[in-house]
Amino acid sequence: MKIKAAVLYEMGKSRPYDESNPLQIEAVDLSTPGYDEVLVKIHAAGLCHSDLSVIDGSRARPLPMVLGHEASGEVMECGAGVNDLKQGDHVVFSFVPMCGHCIPCTTGRPALCEPGAVANTKGTLLEGGIRLKDHSHHDLRHHLGVSAFAEYVVASRHSLVKINTAIPYEISALFGCAVLTGVGAVINTARLTAGRTIVIAGLGGVGLAAVLGALSGGAASVIAADINPYKRTIALQLGAHHVIDPADSNAIQQVKDLTCGGVDIAVEFAGAIKALEFAYAVTKRGGTTVTAGLPHPSHTFSLSPAILVGEERTLKGSYLGSCIPSRDIPAFISLYQTGRLPVNKLLSHTIALEQINEGFERLANGDALRQVVSFA
Ligand SMILES: [Zn+2]
Ligand SMILES: [Zn+2]
Repeated sequence: MKIKAAVLYEMGKSRPYDESNPLQIEAVDLSTPGYDEVLVKIHAAGLCHSDLSVIDGSRARPLPMVLGHEASGEVMECGAGVNDLKQGDHVVFSFVPMCGHCIPCTTGRPALCEPGAVANTKGTLLEGGIRLKDHSHHDLRHHLGVSAFAEYVVASRHSLVKINTAIPYEISALFGCAVLTGVGAVINTARLTAGRTIVIAGLGGVGLAAVLGALSGGAASVIAADINPYKRTIALQLGAHHVIDPADSNAIQQVKDLTCGGVDIAVEFAGAIKALEFAYAVTKRGGTTVTAGLPHPSHTFSLSPAILVGEERTLKGSYLGSCIPSRDIPAFISLYQTGRLPVNKLLSHTIALEQINEGFERLANGDALRQVVSFA
């Protein structure tokens, strides 16, 4: 079938993006779902920093590619072998497909699915197929098995999580990346328990979702840090107890003064080494520092093993919020529906597909929280 999609042909185009138009809106061919695959009508797709990292080239992917990895939609058709979904079901996408058979999948860590990582690196669906072609019949790669900046997609069954139908698509889409990554990093990776103190460093959509997750998880003190004053204001509106400008010369001391010497948990989402250094410096003796940011692979972080040992520190990476998407997406949606995770407050812009380059310029400027392309 012919569908409309946003295609990236070239990384590293100059800004502003609303002038250079890195994403081309065009008609592309989508083939029918193969074995274990599903045709999904996309209703809402969020703009995430990980898409921006492909656009600016800091996280290179094979091109051309249809971007977009945070989305929700409606099942239209199931390929052979798909027996547990049916037409009309609502689904949220997981940007790591879960094969269900590899060692990480069978030991409860599907975020690390090995065939899933291979497929995502190659820009194929989990089973290795490519279902998108451009007007000259050349393959278009899939972004993280999703490629949601498109009216319809074909995805692996193992990239989909069925949800209840009571939640608007613009909200359910956010659970695919911002909420899963942000709340998951706090609850699953850092294992926040009630009464602990926490710093959230880097207040994009994921970091602000983490603020909500920390409040929902019972943190005694949530300290939100970002160099952007607008983001700090939003964090306070969401309920953060304190905000810090990490560019202040005494920012580390400010956190220590607020928390009797440092926080139990610090989680970094900025994807910058300075932010990780800040998070590590404000973590107290015996505490845990988590990073979910993805700086350029050539950037490195150094630490003193003497402090790591002498203070029994923990430093952990967090991918997909260490989540089990089929367990955690419905669980986090329940928290939203009972008022304990008001992620609707993260949605700042609803835009049309034709406005996507404008949206990415706004994201690059730090002028938006979560923006969602609506296909309604
Ligand atoms: Zn994302
Ligand atoms: Zn697996």
